[in-house]
Amino acid sequence: MKTCDFLIIGGGIIGLTLAREWLRRHPKSKVVVLEKEANSVAHGTGRNSGVVHSGIYYAEGSLRARLCVSGSQKMLDYVDDHQLWIDRCGKLLVPPTESSLGSMDVLLERGVANGVEIHKVTGQEAMELEPRVNAQFDQALYVPITSVVNPKEVAERVRKDVVGSGGVIHYSTPALAIGSRRGTVQTSMGTFEAGAVINAAGLFADQVAARAGLKTQYSFQPFKGKYWKHTDPEFVMQRLVYPVPDLNLPFLGVHTAHNQAGDVYFGPSSTPVIGRENYQGLQGVTLRDGLSLSASLIWKFLKNTNGLRTLSMREMKLMRLEGVCDELSKIVTGVEPKNLARSLAKVGIRSQIFDAKTQHLVNDFVVVPDERIIHILNAISPAFTASFAFAEYILDTYQQ
Ligand SMILES: Cc1cc2nc3c(=O)[nH]c(=O)nc-3n(C[C@H](O)[C@H](O)[C@H](O)COP(=O)(O)OP(=O)(O)OC[C@H]3O[C@@H](n4cnc5c(N)ncnc54)[C@H](O)[C@@H]3O)c2cc1C
Repeated sequence: MKTCDFLIIGGGIIGLTLAREWLRRHPKSKVVVLEKEANSVAHGTGRNSGVVHSGIYYAEGSLRARLCVSGSQKMLDYVDDHQLWIDRCGKLLVPPTESSLGSMDVLLERGVANGVEIHKVTGQEAMELEPRVNAQFDQALYVPITSVVNPKEVAERVRKDVVGSGGVIHYSTPALAIGSRRGTVQTSMGTFEAGAVINAAGLFADQVAARAGLKTQYSFQPFKGKYWKHTDPEFVMQRLVYPVPDLNLPFLGVHTAHNQAGDVYFGPSSTPVIGRENYQGLQGVTLRDGLSLSASLIWKFLKNTNGLRTLSMREMKLMRLEGVCDELSKIVTGVEPKNLARSLAKVGIRSQIFDAKTQHLVNDFVVVPDERIIHILNAISPAFTASFAFAEYILDTYQQ
């Protein structure tokens, strides 16, 4: 039996920031992170857009709003303190259709309520901020604080902090079972016994919770996010450009993204899939998940739960490059099918859960403590942005 004070299942950004925060508070204690992959960036942490979100989308008072707003500032400070790459580019939200104009005021109100600097600008002002913007309705929202970082670089820096402070990260070591005795977790390396255990297993958090005996009203519903790359190296974007989203649908819509190398991407899509790590073809689809997710998807599609039927129609359009360009042309100019290439490497899956009681996709982060483990469920976007604040919140709330 191996012993430690604090054990974290999952070594993505949530697990890493938790380990770092615990070691800051208890420098002499023994912290262990179990990660089933050979590194920390195989899933959500290494496959996101790298956007440090501001917090304008989320309902006032929600965990997502609070942790995004405080987390973005902590992320920006961390990146500055460690001299990591950042583009403080700001973000424009452009109405893609006439019917989305009303949502601009809702977002403006939410942004102000959440304490985020946000401005309504004219089409001319939007074009001065980003010449490639399509300002067809002569108005846009501008959020100066939104930035882009390199999520793999951030995760690597946090990993070094953890290891440098004496934390131990066991890669290629999945948590196989949760013991019935408090704080015990079985792995291929043997059994660990910890004073406290946190489940930060991302796409598998619900399964780890189920293995620990937790019964909830939640089920898992993964959504794949594909990206397309602009192939012309001369095509650069000075700002992020997002559509004003349809507030009846769960995702933000296809937007621009750029990285440290200056590559411009568009995405991510939001395709419901039947596997947790289903990045390509049938990769990551198990018989059990495949059957249960297919059945629940058909049901949700028929009932149009959370606008899933509408969303699926939009996703079908994105199967053709012409359809992707058509969506993008509502917010940016100069994107043609001949300049677009589907990115096979850049594809991520959202660890989204569904609530059987409300019959809705869950719109907030969910933390469920039980007698033995604290489970972090639904670490959806912007959990990367929020991660430093999320770690502080978990330890403040559950580990006094
Ligand atoms: C397409 C896409 C774009 C996004 N864009 C943004 C963005 O721009 N900004 C933003 O803030 N957020 C964004 N997000 C969300 C963000 O990526 C996630 O919220 C964040 O990465 C969650 O971190 P995590 O540590 O919970 O998950 P992960 O990085 O998935 O880490 C969980 C880890 O647990 C491990 N694990 C699973 N089961 C076990 C087990 N049994 N034992 C041991 N280890 C296990 C996994 O291997 C994994 O490494 C995006 C997400 C997607 C999918």
